[in-house]
Formats: sequence, structure tokens, C-alpha cells
Amino acid sequence: MRCPYCSAPDSRVVNSRPGDDGSAIRRRRECLSCSRRFTTYERAQLEPLMVVKREGARQAFNPDKLLRGLLLATEKRPVPEERLRSFAYSFEDEVQAPEITSTEIGKRAMTFLRPLDDVAYIRFASVYRDFDSLERFIEEIQGLKDEG
Ligand SMILES: [Zn+2]
Repeated sequence: MRCPYCSAPDSRVVNSRPGDDGSAIRRRRECLSCSRRFTTYERAQLEPLMVVKREGARQAFNPDKLLRGLLLATEKRPVPEERLRSFAYSFEDEVQAPEITSTEIGKRAMTFLRPLDDVAYIRFASVYRDFDSLERFIEEIQGLKDEG
């Protein structure tokens, strides 16, 4: 790890402790050359979560894409962006499996949105559940109303 101040290659670890969320180790380092201190974070890197699409193609999970879908669904709705962000960026850790289907991602996102905002839930569902007919879409809205 090069010193960010002078680019010297060597530093010593002054102390180490878990980061705030426990998933990273925070190390305080001191440059052996200029003696300035800086912090590094060490994080376990898992194999990327693979998404299996309906046609069977696979691609690495992209939290930005999930976040974009959630932002679209919640546009002008009273849902704090921070909630969406933390859902999207912790998603990969929550799954705890090497792969997931795109349908399952949609389901989990819907389960997450439902208690937050009915409108956002329906908007998201209409895209991700691929409503095959207007009737099914209406049934879904009706179901929400009945639960009141
Ligand atoms: Zn230095």
C-alpha cells in the first residue's frame, strides 16, 4: 500500500479495528518515509453474485441497476432515497448464494417496497413481474385495496 502523501511503498500498521458495520477491517498506517498517517480498509471480496436472466444468460449483479429501478418506481413518492440505496448495496450480501434469478431479484425488491409505499410497489411490480395481462395488473391493485 503506497503512502497517499509521498508514494513511498512501505508503511507500518499502527492499529487495526473492525469498521463500523463489521464487514471491513480498518487499519491505521504510518508511512515509513514521511511518517504521515492514513487509513486503509480491508474487505473480503466474494465472487460476484451472478444474475440468471429469463433466457438463461448470466451477468454479474449490478447494484446501480437495481437502485435505478427502485428510484424510478419511487419517483415523487415519499420514500427516502437512503433506504433504497442501502437495500441495493447490501443486496449482494443478503443473498448468500452464488447466483439468483432476475425474477427472484424482482420479488425481493417488491417485498421490500410493499410496506414502504403502495404506489411504488405497483410501479415496480408492473415492470418486474411482467404482468401478462391488464387483468392481472388490476387484480394486484385490487389485492392491495382489499388489504386496506
Ligand atoms: Zn509518506
